[in-house]
Amino acid sequence: MSVIHVENLYKRYNGVEAVRGVTFDVREGETFGFLGPNGAGKTTTISILCTLLGFDSGIAMVNRYDCRTEPQKVRSSIGLVFQEFTLDNELTAYENLKFHCYLYGMDRSLTERRIEEALDVVNLSGRKLDLVRKFSGGMKRRLEIARGLLHRPRVLFLDEPTLGLDPQTRSNVWEFIMKLKKAAGSTLFMTTHYMEEAEVCDRIAIMDNGRIIACDRPDELKRSIKGDTVYIKTVDDASASREIEEKFLLKPKMIEAGLSVNVEAGEKFVPQLFAGMKTEIKSVNLKKPSLEDVFLNLTGREIRDYGPAPRAPGLRGR
Ligand code: ATP
Repeated sequence: MSVIHVENLYKRYNGVEAVRGVTFDVREGETFGFLGPNGAGKTTTISILCTLLGFDSGIAMVNRYDCRTEPQKVRSSIGLVFQEFTLDNELTAYENLKFHCYLYGMDRSLTERRIEEALDVVNLSGRKLDLVRKFSGGMKRRLEIARGLLHRPRVLFLDEPTLGLDPQTRSNVWEFIMKLKKAAGSTLFMTTHYMEEAEVCDRIAIMDNGRIIACDRPDELKRSIKGDTVYIKTVDDASASREIEEKFLLKPKMIEAGLSVNVEAGEKFVPQLFAGMKTEIKSVNLKKPSLEDVFLNLTGREIRDYGPAPRAPGLRGR
């Protein structure tokens, strides 16, 4: 069953077409990611689904509620974690969570139980009565994500949930996101431009210039590249290159660190290479395609080529 249904969605800002005919469905229990460079239209789409932004045409449904005509029902059925911190620094961790439960009309015993559980999952039980002001960036983020799931939303939206955190804290935050998702049984919808974060998703929609250019499981997307890259260092790269061309009918590229060659299945090619080459091989490295390669293959550009884009109103309090 679809918990999010989007069909032919369009959004323009004063002539800028931010979202151009986007269509996708998210199934119950999925972790679904929007991956794309700055300015691709990810935040605009998530803002529309969270009813923080209107749209020009198309259909946007969340939990079977229409984002245009039933925004209150959409809002009460979702959780939302913004890019920026929205905790109250002058309240304790416990008070921040309690305030959230109060806003969602949860009774006292449920409130206490859920807060205890949430603090336990994100490893902050010992800091329950500390002011949030004293927390590190990673601790604040964990607390915010725990807060977003206290009322057990059917869908939790996360807009670039680990932006600005260092790599170690980011992976630690992801561990907690997955634990919380399991405990709450929610569907996750997230945006990111970090390739490695998109890998945790069951499915990814790759967005570019306001359009979805591919949507599938990460492994399927990578399989679509049809090939691995093998990096080879030899005692004589020029003669190794000629040998590879003749014996394997492949076209190696000369690179700074030796040769690179694209093959369909690297794990089959490497033993053949060792068995068939006369030129002495010094080292071989096999690289499976990454999501970065998928983006490059689809657009001819690298996802990291982009600079920051102007920000849309809505999610980030711009
Ligand atoms: P980022 O992570 O950098 O925000 P994004 O993929 O979330 O990227 P959006 O913020 O949705 O992209 O922006 C999509 C397009 O809409 C971009 O071209 C951006 O310049 C434009 N845009 C966003 N907000 C506004 C606005 N308030 N007014 C005009 N154009 C906007």
